[in-house]
Amino acid sequence: MPERTPYIAANWKMNKTVAEAAEFVDALLPRIAATQSDVVICPSFLALSEVVERRRGTAVKVAAQNMHEEASGAFTGEVSAPMLAELDVEAVILGHSERRQSFGETDEALARKVPAALAAGLEPILCVGESEEARDGGETEEVLERQLQTDLAGLESGQLAEVVIAYEPIWAIGTGRTATAEQAQHACAFIRDVLRMRGASADAVRILYGGSMKPPNAADLLSNPDVDGGLVGGASLDPVEFAGIVEAAG
Ligand code: PEP
Repeated sequence: MPERTPYIAANWKMNKTVAEAAEFVDALLPRIAATQSDVVICPSFLALSEVVERRRGTAVKVAAQNMHEEASGAFTGEVSAPMLAELDVEAVILGHSERRQSFGETDEALARKVPAALAAGLEPILCVGESEEARDGGETEEVLERQLQTDLAGLESGQLAEVVIAYEPIWAIGTGRTATAEQAQHACAFIRDVLRMRGASADAVRILYGGSMKPPNAADLLSNPDVDGGLVGGASLDPVEFAGIVEAAG
């Protein structure tokens, strides 16, 4: 089985001005200098360039939080994959539940966004996850499978290993209600099985857990065999807390 390098991403959402982003990066870099993990910072569009420049010469990668599926056109207010790639951004979060719930992001649009990101040289971090209602109704696997099958429909099986998947149960995001290590492992292993059925070299795909990950619970979540990292919201806003999670990943 291939070794999967742990992957820890900071999703800042609509937080941090450019000046605050710069301050964060300067505080974080010395704290994570020894890490062997992939560390990714996902600022707002406006702070991307600042973070790209400040991390130059380090292993830290930079990701956007969204993008449009078209390369250019009459889409007021949108940003495309080639625009991000030109800034030396390396990755992009796609399908975050906040975008699905508040901005009408559909699985059909994601089926176009994922290949568009790869075509521009960006690593997609595709978020999937069930609502509380779906979990209570025993529909978690059905929801995850539907999202994965639709969102990844535009990829050849050989391309699937280039995508990072984030399992983010909606009930755990920003609520302080973290999934148990068993729930996270079960869902991430299920996601790997779905990818395997699509013919992907599923053992190479990094699958992250996201949902109220904090320094005290990170090691437990990350110790599971199919949990390869974390997508971190609230706890990524503080460089000391975020460095604590990176440290837990190794
Ligand atoms: C997220 O928004 O991707 C997330 C996981 O947020 P939080 O860590 O705050 O739950």
